[in-house]
Amino acid sequence: MKLLNILLDFLLPPRCPLCGQVVARGESLCPGCKEKLPKAPYTRVLPLAGGKSLRVVAPMPYRDEYRHALHRFKFLGKRSLAKPLGQLMAHALPKGIAADGLAFVPLWEKDRAARGYDQSGLLAKEMAACLGLPLVETLQKTRKTQVQHQLSKALRAENVRGAYRAEKPVAGRRLLLVDDIVTTGATLRACAEALYQAGATEITAVCAANAVGDGRAE
Ligand SMILES: [Zn+2]
Repeated sequence: MKLLNILLDFLLPPRCPLCGQVVARGESLCPGCKEKLPKAPYTRVLPLAGGKSLRVVAPMPYRDEYRHALHRFKFLGKRSLAKPLGQLMAHALPKGIAADGLAFVPLWEKDRAARGYDQSGLLAKEMAACLGLPLVETLQKTRKTQVQHQLSKALRAENVRGAYRAEKPVAGRRLLLVDDIVTTGATLRACAEALYQAGATEITAVCAANAVGDGRAE
């Protein structure tokens, strides 16, 4: 295994997802990008139906090199970025957070087939490996929705309302809900509500980047 890692490092050295510089195995960012990363993750609290709320954390803003990295990951087939991004997300979790598994925001099945992968699923898988928690593949998208970033805030909530459901019961489970980018949070709210309906007891959302406030994308 050690020899395999040495060989892999030589053939495919791990690279910083933000600047492309070679990094030591086990490091997600190069020292320069690590230094520039916001010291504390972005944290937002979104209201949910039934008086509940959803805390969302994200280590990166959605601008500049962070935005480019996510673009390459999401649209240009750079699946290998899931590992460093997933590690960054795992490290952004507040200390002492209690979770039994990780769910993720799924794509519509035809969109997944067209892209070849589900970017949030890849991030969740890497986070699961990092945290030693199981991946809970329960959320399904029940219908096609319009692309969220082309809609106004009010229409975004309407667009995804009821568009997700939990296929398997998650009674009594405390889950992390993983997505790539949070903007208005409408999709995360729809997914969190579906998980609560399926019996989850506590949900915290974790995204790679926050697109509201600093690094605003709207
Ligand atoms: Zn870097």
